[in-house]
Amino acid sequence: MTAELSLTFLGTGTSVGVPVIGCDCEVCGSADPQNHRLRSSVLLRVAGLTLLVDSGPDLRQQALREDLRELDAVLYTHAHLDHVAGFDELRAFCWRRSEPLPMFGTAECLQTLKTMFGWAFASDNIHHGYVKPDPRVVDGPFHLGTLRVTPLPVEHAAVATIGYLFEPPGARSLAYLPDVKRIPATTMDVLRGVDVLVLDALRPTPHPTHFSLDEALATVAEAAPGATWLTHLGHENEHAQLTRTLPPGVRVAWDGLKLSLADLA
Ligand SMILES: [Zn+2]
Ligand SMILES: [Zn+2]
Ligand SMILES: [Zn+2]
Repeated sequence: MTAELSLTFLGTGTSVGVPVIGCDCEVCGSADPQNHRLRSSVLLRVAGLTLLVDSGPDLRQQALREDLRELDAVLYTHAHLDHVAGFDELRAFCWRRSEPLPMFGTAECLQTLKTMFGWAFASDNIHHGYVKPDPRVVDGPFHLGTLRVTPLPVEHAAVATIGYLFEPPGARSLAYLPDVKRIPATTMDVLRGVDVLVLDALRPTPHPTHFSLDEALATVAEAAPGATWLTHLGHENEHAQLTRTLPPGVRVAWDGLKLSLADLA
């Protein structure tokens, strides 16, 4: 049985988003919607499941834009605020479920969520309007229905950070790595030859915790994916201009972009 995977980019921006508050640069002032980037997050629809990767501060806006009504699980990459600050917006999805909402992440990430949003994880959380988390520690590959999910540990900053490899049965594979500075050899081994790679490419110049464009392209050369989409982009990147500089098979993602993995060449 084949399961088509559809991917929606809810946001493709770095932690401050684009435009940046108070910035007068060309990209921040651009009228091109492809230069407007909410905080990075993606939505997957596969095998009858709707999965959210990260709940950033723009989640409300992103959910309204995409008419998102139901979620089956949230998968967290790490506990930086640009990936978790929309936690409380998950309330609307919890109202429509009878069971708590599964939330996957590293033990460290889930512990940080418990510290930040203690009321939701408290044993006396019986209030109808609250987020009802069902925390699930990710320490190796697991299945969601027929979808195989493999965590991809990376080095990013001081917090434990993972990407995810999604392998629907009989369909193309997708790896999502929005925040990364270095990819350990064990993760690179899993990544090699993936069909679609979504990868951090913050800006042209080096950054202490994110891939520069050159670092992202070196990873693409090593991993040799079928197709690559760049994400977690800062205002140093003008969409059309950056697109023209990229090698074949590498493209710049934008907010609202939808990919069907069955469609991709
Ligand atoms: Zn980030
Ligand atoms: Zn700017
Ligand atoms: Zn981060």
